Amino acid sequence: MIAGLAKLHSPGGTLISLTVERRPGAVRTGLSSLLRPIKEAGEAFDRDGAKSIRTDVARILDFADDIEELGGRGVAIFASKQDDIWEVRRLEREPINRTHLSTRPYLRGVRVLPNPMRAGVALVDHAASRLWVADGEGMHVIEKLTADIGKSNYGGYEGYDEHTAQRRADEATTHMWKRASELLLVAHRSEPFDLLAIGAMEETQGEFVDELHDYLSRLPEHRFTVDPNTTSETELYRVVDDAAAALRKTRDVAVIDAFLEAKGAGRPVTVGTKDSLEAINAHAVETLLVAGPFERDGVRCDACGWMSRVGEACPLCGSDTVAESDILSYAMDAVTTSGGTVRQVRVASQLDADGAGAILRFPIG
Ligand SMILES: [Zn+2]
Repeated sequence: MIAGLAKLHSPGGTLISLTVERRPGAVRTGLSSLLRPIKEAGEAFDRDGAKSIRTDVARILDFADDIEELGGRGVAIFASKQDDIWEVRRLEREPINRTHLSTRPYLRGVRVLPNPMRAGVALVDHAASRLWVADGEGMHVIEKLTADIGKSNYGGYEGYDEHTAQRRADEATTHMWKRASELLLVAHRSEPFDLLAIGAMEETQGEFVDELHDYLSRLPEHRFTVDPNTTSETELYRVVDDAAAALRKTRDVAVIDAFLEAKGAGRPVTVGTKDSLEAINAHAVETLLVAGPFERDGVRCDACGWMSRVGEACPLCGSDTVAESDILSYAMDAVTTSGGTVRQVRVASQLDADGAGAILRFPIG
C-alpha cells in the first residue's frame, strides 16, 4: 500500500494527508476538528492553492458517511484537487488521528499501524480438522474435514479385528491431515501466512505437525492446547491475535539485537536522526529503526529528496527545502523506496534514547 502512495506529488504543497479512526457515529466530528488547522493553513496559500484546499476539506467532510459504511477500523485519505489526487484506503487497525499538508503524502499515520498478521489456523483431532485463515478482519473458514475412524471403543473385541480397525482409523486420520496440509498450503501460496496456529489436545499436536508440508513447517508456529470440539471462533481469534502480538515483539527484539550487535562489532551503523538522514542521502541504509512514535523535525528537498535536520537550500541541487514536523516519516519512505527495510520498534530498548538508528550497507563519511 505504502509504495504506491509514496509516489503522490503535489508541487504546490496542497496535498492533504489524513488518517482518522472509524468510530461509528463520531467520524464527522472527528474529521471537522482534524481539518480545522488545514483549513487555516490553506488561507496562507495563493488563490488557486487556497481554493484547492477549501474544496478538498469540504469533500473530505462530505465523505464522512462513506467512511462509516467503509468498515474497518479507520481510513487514510490523500487529497489534492489542484493535482487531481483523491486516494482512500481502509485501515484494519485504529490509526492515530492526524492531518498533514505538504508536497508529498505523510505516511507515518499508516506506517505506525502494526500490519495485520495473516495466520493459518488449524483445530484438529483424529476425527476432524477445521481450518481458517485469520487476518485483521477476523476468521475466514477454509474447510472442515472429517475422517471415518469408526468407534473409539472396541468394547471387548480383541486381537486381529481391533488391530485392523485401529490401523484403518489411523490411515483415515493421516489422510485427512495431509489434505488439511494441502489446503493450508494453497491458502499460504495465494497470500503468505506470517504464522501458523495449531490448536489440539497436547498429544495430537506433534502428530499433526509431522504431516505438514515443509513450507508450512518453516513458518513461525504457535501450538496451543485446546479441546477442538468446544472452542469458539471468538476464543480462537483471541489466541491467534495474542500469538501475532508475541511474534511482532520477538521480531522487534531481534532487530534491536541485530542493531546493537552490529554497533558493538564496529560494523557501519548510525545512531540518531541527523546521522541516519545523512546515511539515507548516501543510499547507504539497509535497515532504518525508529523507536515507536519518536518524531523529529527537519527539512527535505522536494526536487531531489535530500534530507537533513536543518538547511534552507538543498546543497545538492540548490532548491529551497520544505520544512517537516516529522522528517522521519519521509526518511522511512526514502529507505523503502531505495530497497531498504524500515522497522518501527514497539518494545522498550536502548534505541529509545536516540530515537532512530540505522544498519548500513557500507560506511559513510
Ligand atoms: Zn535537492
